[in-house]
Amino acid sequence: MGLPALEAWAKDHGQAAFRGRQLHDWLYAKGARQLAEVSVLPKLFREQLSAQPPEGAFDWMGRSRELHRSIASDGTTKLLLGTRDGLSIETVGIPAEGRLTVCVSSQVGCSMACRFCATGKGGLQRSLAVHEIVDQVLSVREVMEQRPSHVVFMGMGEPLLNIEVVLAAIHCLCTDLGMAQRQITVSTVGVPRTLPRLAELALERLGRAQFTLAVSLHAPDQHLREELIPTAHAYPLEALLEDCRRYVAVTGRRVSFEYILLGGLNDQPRHAAALAQLLRGFQSHVNLIPYNPIAEEEFQRPMPAAVEGFRRALQERHVAVSVRASRGLDADAACGQLRRRLEGSLEPVPAR
Ligand code: SAH
Repeated sequence: MGLPALEAWAKDHGQAAFRGRQLHDWLYAKGARQLAEVSVLPKLFREQLSAQPPEGAFDWMGRSRELHRSIASDGTTKLLLGTRDGLSIETVGIPAEGRLTVCVSSQVGCSMACRFCATGKGGLQRSLAVHEIVDQVLSVREVMEQRPSHVVFMGMGEPLLNIEVVLAAIHCLCTDLGMAQRQITVSTVGVPRTLPRLAELALERLGRAQFTLAVSLHAPDQHLREELIPTAHAYPLEALLEDCRRYVAVTGRRVSFEYILLGGLNDQPRHAAALAQLLRGFQSHVNLIPYNPIAEEEFQRPMPAAVEGFRRALQERHVAVSVRASRGLDADAACGQLRRRLEGSLEPVPAR
């Protein structure tokens, strides 16, 4: 809930509107996890809320439980969070000079089944709710004792299959946590007929679409793309790119493309040349992601020389390009890894 809703809620419960503001402050600025912590609210009021049926419902403030914490040598911190209905999701805090990026999940599991992705191996359980996405940012802030500056929807799940919630979460992060929309990235592998809807809904819900849209391309031609991303079968590359062009036209924002580099498979000079050709005249940015190995597949990490060669080949063809540094490899930080390794073998971390 945002401030207006919390103020209305306070009034509905026989309190002055400023009680809603106090609650807002404790929820978002102070990161309270339970009503009992919100000492600024009158004790009697808190007791009344706790006693309301369903009993104890208000004691819980929408936060997930930390089930596991894994900290890599580079400080990258991966959390396994438990939802109220007993499912688990991954969230990663990635510190870098002057910034803290939170990589959030938008769904529990994923239905897209990309072959190189650990999350895709387990299928989809359900989409997350707004509070479960915002909780991830609050949880990273709490554990790392630092204000997140950036949020990327690159954790578990396909954001475009949960558009309304993702946009509501972005609204909350900006309005209630004071983040800047420009520091938020939504990553999608592409779902037919959803990009126009994303553009339209973003303008409607956020006033403008200033977050970055990142599209997981991963191959320069339809045939290879389908091999890596079976669901791409229903969404020809030309149609996806056409939708991206329209997204740029409607939102005025540049689109970035992610390209996972799989050793020997899509990381050769001819792939780079084909990719540059494909993106000719497109206001875009390509982010190369060296493959993070997962247990279930035999793909290879690309050779460093191949990564550099690919980057240079794009640059020479005037395609804006960067290589994503692999972070947190020793924290099982690649997509879905931690949850799959630990599933079923976990005790919750004791509450604070
Ligand atoms: N479903 C969305 C967002 C989640 S995945 C999407 O596909 O974009 C975020 C990014 O991580 C995607 O580009 C995805 O292809 C990439 N990814 C998944 N598994 C990976 C792995 N094992 N190594 C490197 N990148 C991976």
